Amino acid sequence: MYEVFCEKIIKGIITKIESKDHYVLADETDEIIRCTIRGKLKKEFNLKKDKLYFTDFASVGDVVVYDLNKDGTGVINSIEERRNYISRKAPRIKGASYRGERLEQVIAANIDKIFIVTSVSEPDFNNKTLDRFIVSAESSDLDVVIIINKIDLAVNDSSQKWQKLYNDIGYTLLLTSVLSVINIDKIKSQLSGNKSLFWGQSGVGKSSILNKMYPGLNLKIGDVSQHTSKGIHTTVTSRMISLDKNTFVIDTPGIREIDPYGIKKEDLSHYFIEFEEFADQCKFNTCTHQHEPGCEVIAAVEKELISAERHDSYLRILGTIEDDLNF
Ligand code: GDP
Ligand code: ZN
Repeated sequence: MYEVFCEKIIKGIITKIESKDHYVLADETDEIIRCTIRGKLKKEFNLKKDKLYFTDFASVGDVVVYDLNKDGTGVINSIEERRNYISRKAPRIKGASYRGERLEQVIAANIDKIFIVTSVSEPDFNNKTLDRFIVSAESSDLDVVIIINKIDLAVNDSSQKWQKLYNDIGYTLLLTSVLSVINIDKIKSQLSGNKSLFWGQSGVGKSSILNKMYPGLNLKIGDVSQHTSKGIHTTVTSRMISLDKNTFVIDTPGIREIDPYGIKKEDLSHYFIEFEEFADQCKFNTCTHQHEPGCEVIAAVEKELISAERHDSYLRILGTIEDDLNF
């Protein structure tokens, strides 16, 4: 008699990281599988550790190959190459950095679309914060949708001014309110069939928006006062939620700050997409668009072809990149 060994490769997507050794996967039928990592894989990661800049071995959204145990749990054997990923500098928390550098913390991998959520107030809209998120998204080459939520709290029409500014650049910007139920359906129609990341500061209403679209989710809504307390760096606990067979959202509770990771000074202007056509014509190809002679970006700001606000954001971020060199 012959025994047939049929080695079927099973793949899953990481939906949550519970600890360094415990991962939650969704399999092809959306079933939840709790996994550990194959010792060999862990060993490889640890051996390479001083050459790596990542804080974690795998991230939410990673596609993994795993073996299924008899008890229904799994063991991760390998991680597939990422199509894209979005990351930030790891917060300065104990054990998160070594060699005096800040590590890269991958927030999510293999994403189709990113919703950058901001609010009119509580917390106040800050275009510079928004631009930092946009830079991160652009550097990962992701499709960006901007949301300004809580428009029920708007006392003047500055949100419309921002809407025009970002629309002119080419971004979709939705003005929404969970409380007054405005444009929530427009967000929903953009989600279908995609793996979307909801990103933005704490308190802007990400969980509220998701709950409004999908009441069954029952995500925990933060208390406004909680978001004003500063100084505590919670680790990112992003998780992927399945909405239907092909639609997923990744929620990122706990993000308070965003520092784009690994962006070089000379590359920054690429991530301000409306600068590109002017930056190509600057006199010096090393131009950083600050004060150099023959800078076409500055000329475009003067002609109001590029908004002064966006150029200010650019300069501000450029400044923080220079600071990083002193680490
Ligand atoms: P998250 O941290 O981004 O997920 O924000 P939450 O969804 O936890 O919401 C933070 C707070 O803002 C909660 O008190 C919500 O009730 C409130 N909130 C959310 N959306 C709106 C809105 O459209 N209008 C108003 N006025 N408050 C909102
Ligand atoms: Zn220039």
